[in-house]
Amino acid sequence: MDNLSILTKGVDTLVTVVGAGFTGLYALFKLRDQMKVPVRVFESAPDVGGTWYWNNYPGARCDIESVHYSYSFDEKLQQEWTWSEKFAAQPEILRYLNHVADRFDLRKDITFNTKVTSVVWNEQEKYWTVTTNQGEVIKSRFFISGVGTLSVPKKPEFPGVENFKGPTLITGNWPKQPISLKGKRVGVIGTGSTGIQLITEIAKEVGELYVFQRTPNYSTPLGNGPTQAEEDLENKAKYTLIRHNARNHFLGVPYNEVQPSALAVSEEERLKVYEDRYQRGGFRLFIDSYQDILFDPKANETVSEFIRQKIHARVKRPEVAELLAPRDYCYGTKRPPMESGYYEVFNQDNVHLIDVKQTPISHIDENGVVVGDQLHEVDVLILATGFDAMTGPLFALGIQGKNHEKLTEKWKEGPRTYLGHTVSGFPNLFLVTGPQSPSVLYNMPLAIEDHVELATGIIQHMIDHQLLEVDADAQAEEEWVNHANELAQASLLPNTDSWYMGANIPGKPRRCLVYLGGAPKYRAICNEMIAKGYQGFHFKAVDPNSTLLQQVS
Ligand code: NAP
Repeated sequence: MDNLSILTKGVDTLVTVVGAGFTGLYALFKLRDQMKVPVRVFESAPDVGGTWYWNNYPGARCDIESVHYSYSFDEKLQQEWTWSEKFAAQPEILRYLNHVADRFDLRKDITFNTKVTSVVWNEQEKYWTVTTNQGEVIKSRFFISGVGTLSVPKKPEFPGVENFKGPTLITGNWPKQPISLKGKRVGVIGTGSTGIQLITEIAKEVGELYVFQRTPNYSTPLGNGPTQAEEDLENKAKYTLIRHNARNHFLGVPYNEVQPSALAVSEEERLKVYEDRYQRGGFRLFIDSYQDILFDPKANETVSEFIRQKIHARVKRPEVAELLAPRDYCYGTKRPPMESGYYEVFNQDNVHLIDVKQTPISHIDENGVVVGDQLHEVDVLILATGFDAMTGPLFALGIQGKNHEKLTEKWKEGPRTYLGHTVSGFPNLFLVTGPQSPSVLYNMPLAIEDHVELATGIIQHMIDHQLLEVDADAQAEEEWVNHANELAQASLLPNTDSWYMGANIPGKPRRCLVYLGGAPKYRAICNEMIAKGYQGFHFKAVDPNSTLLQQVS
């Protein structure tokens, strides 16, 4: 009997993957077509796309250049696809993922409209029992989570929201049927990356727009534009180099002009650099200006003040500009949103900015949003209030490991992972872009490819060596958690209330959810771990006396 048959004996499939977004599609291709192993994929939506399926709100688009924010695993795929814009909008990204699904004939092996409701480890037989809301129960040797990092919208926390008589729309679960906001009075709660994109777009057509802002953001220009044919050809000719350079950059983009310290240069020189990065757009100001802006408050203040002045220059009414200009936290400690005309929206007479920090939203009634004792009447209410990031989607899977330990229990004081990819006591389970990995501070498709390859590499190793179980060592996990926390503590992130820190969800432990060492360092650590024979992991071989081996021999 061959090695694969040994690992699949007594189970329904070798690997179960949940999610059919960037992760699930690549994992399916890798496992089914390259490794030729049995795999099941479950997806709660009726179609592929993941985050790009659900977040179809007006204005949704990516903010890492599409030439980088795309799969790199197949040369033909990256040569044949041409993006129409520098930063593609949601419909085009969804078309791309559909193209990938069709091109590799993936759809036929994905079970749609099906939610995984529990994932329970069987210690005796060394498999996961995966149960779905459609009543299917399967035994799977391995489980790969591709549920995404920002896929469980935050629960509305406004008393009376259910009494509102008009539609209440949630950006992270936007209606699939077209909805017209033309001429309507619309209220938007939330001014993060989502709110900023949405507000800019709908301000073009709504009657009156009420923006309920709790914390202003340091938003900077996206710098979008149509794809230039010549540039596209050039990029395609050197795609291998582009990907190589992207992989060797902290954020996964091939920028190379970052300088060590904002404080080591004259003000004139610094402002020149900030202006250049601001004008060129995207993440350049954040990641390609000065290295110390995320670590030194004085360095950070130079860029924070630069952005505040930009906001004041663009917003005509000084009191509105001042409300839009953040003062009480450092730039970059909340995820920097990109904009394309956001600030100018507040120069429109029909756009009203309501500060709900000073006076919070007290409740929502049938007619609109009540702030203090003032009712703002609206016809449509939009909640752009964010997500229960990183841990929320994993908790929703109902994962239970060795000794019946629930993941929710293990992580009640905050996530604990080895390499942001595995969890001690939860064998044969792989988290793609899990907490304490570079994930959201890296170019997501590349981060996903890295993690899918890490997981499938371990699985291949286990097939080759007839290994039934892999579990992260508790000490290795402890060291990784400490390392990730130390890096976070050395940065300015812990001082700010953000979803990076879990601070957007009442009661969620305040822990940095992201690995701040950067993707190149992270990849070097993973490579060293592999070179040292999967250091930090314990494997269990097939027991020569076990019933399993007796069955297969
Ligand atoms: P977010 O950044 O968490 O923003 C949520 C907004 O809702 C914040 O302004 C928040 O205010 C506000 N809010 C939440 N609860 C509130 C309450 N009870 N009262 C008043 N205001 C409340 O969520 P997001 O905008 O959906 O973005 C999440 C992440 O998704 C982004 O950071 C980014 O990583 C990703 N994203 C990416 C893109 C892209 O271009 N690629 C686009 C959209 C989203 P506070 O700040 O005061 O909490």
